[in-house]
Amino acid sequence: LTSGPFQNVPDRDFTIGSEREKLSTALAQVRSQFGQTFWPVVGGQARTGVPTAPSTDPAAPGTILALVGHAGVDLAEAAVQAAEAAFKSWYKTSAAGRAALLERVAELMAAQRSTLTAWIVYETGKAWREADADVSEAIDFCRYYGEQMLRLEATAQRRDLPGETNAYYYRGRGVAVVIAPWNFPLAILTGMTAAALVTGNAVIMKPAEQSSIIAAQLMRLFEQAGFPAGVVNYLPGKGSTIGAYLVQHPRVHLIAFTGSLEVGQRILTEASIVRPGQRHLKRVIAELGGKNAIIIDSDADLDQAVLGVVQSAFGYSGQKCSACSRLIVIESIHDAFIERLVEATRSLRIGHPKEPGNYTGPVIGRDAYERINATIEAAARQHRLVYRGDVSELQDGYFIGPTIFADVEPEAALAQEEIFGPVLAVIKARNFDRALEIANGTNFALTGGLFSRSPRHIVEAQQRFECGNLYINRKITAALVDRQPFGGFRLSGIGSKAGGPDYLLQFLEPVTVSENI
Ligand code: NAP
Repeated sequence: LTSGPFQNVPDRDFTIGSEREKLSTALAQVRSQFGQTFWPVVGGQARTGVPTAPSTDPAAPGTILALVGHAGVDLAEAAVQAAEAAFKSWYKTSAAGRAALLERVAELMAAQRSTLTAWIVYETGKAWREADADVSEAIDFCRYYGEQMLRLEATAQRRDLPGETNAYYYRGRGVAVVIAPWNFPLAILTGMTAAALVTGNAVIMKPAEQSSIIAAQLMRLFEQAGFPAGVVNYLPGKGSTIGAYLVQHPRVHLIAFTGSLEVGQRILTEASIVRPGQRHLKRVIAELGGKNAIIIDSDADLDQAVLGVVQSAFGYSGQKCSACSRLIVIESIHDAFIERLVEATRSLRIGHPKEPGNYTGPVIGRDAYERINATIEAAARQHRLVYRGDVSELQDGYFIGPTIFADVEPEAALAQEEIFGPVLAVIKARNFDRALEIANGTNFALTGGLFSRSPRHIVEAQQRFECGNLYINRKITAALVDRQPFGGFRLSGIGSKAGGPDYLLQFLEPVTVSENI
């Protein structure tokens, strides 16, 4: 590993013409590759012959980007066997060797940055900047976890006494199943997989169906970097069948899951059962949803606050676990703030994300489109609709305009249930104390934000605002690896923060060896 202390890789600056040119070229190149088939990779071999399903562009659903081979239960079983066999030698490799392979993946990602970004734009409908940031985060995860593993190894404890040596060190757990969501299609899958690999586990990657092509790109990079066959396997397919099968499998040791509360709960339940032939208890890391609030204090810098709310609520059409979906505004500035927020939201350009000027693209697919629209229709019968972005000119694609409801009761479903779309519920609070109470009044505790110029309120928020990541006077999305380790508590998940110093410990088995000499 060549690097010094970890540093985040910078995002691309698309205000520079040459940078824009690179992505435009890559978008055209990727477009010319539409129509190929990506197969599962198990034990180092592409497994052709399984049924395929199309992956389409959510901004132009008639466009088939590629076919993806869907693994069934038989192939999932083969993947467990391949991973189990590979683990036997993989866990004995040096941490330095494993980190060096991840560094190689990071270098390949940097070199193929435009191609990866272009696939993210097409397959998951992310705008340029957001797609590019997804690649940055993936690179950061590879480097950061590599460095953290070396740190853990370097600080492994020795206590040697006359006649006795004692060593305390870490070992991989075994077969790790990584089950990922589609909304950070490269970053989250890379993060969980890199952590599992660098700690000496063999991995089965089960990507979300909606982002299986991007996962295939990642698998290609692992192969190019030189990971031994079977150490990492790519298993696209249905979560409800192969995901469930892997979670229940007696020879799976660890499950790293990021996704919805509903699926996370099911995984935790299933993984707790010790099945015939199973000789261990499974470790589950589950990063789940949020219903994140931003508080606008009466003395907030409104220019800053409007921008921060718009970015947090409507960036990637609100499809981020960290997105703001509740806005709590102090009564005295409420009306003025809403007015400015609506005007700022009106200025957002929506359209196909392949065009650099579009701020947001579509939602991920038909199911999400129908579900979010139905939620908006139902909410419009109960709450005051103050803005709904007009998308009637966009003929094709799953576009939903940014939507703002005001005077929402804190206990209303709109203010309690995760929607995962561009829908913001504004709640009025009579004072700061009440605003904090409302902010804490959900079952989730992922991100939160405060715009305020009052030092006393800022300190109070630090003490009382119940969320895993609190942001003051800035947007509440776009956590950076190492700088803002990310994750929540309560129903937002269990596990220590991704991109933080404790994360890798979850993937390791500590061992004590004492020798009488
Ligand atoms: P999801 O529906 O829970 O799916 C996540 C993954 O689980 C997919 O790969 C899915 O496969 C798989 N899956 C589905 N049913 C399964 C089962 N019975 N057993 C095992 N695996 C199964 O979530 P999503 O729609 O992809 O992502 C959105 C959710 O993720 C939101 O709730 C969001 O808040 C959360 N999220 C949280 C974080 C965080 O860090 N806390 C980050 C990002 C997203 P299929 O695709 O085949 O269904």
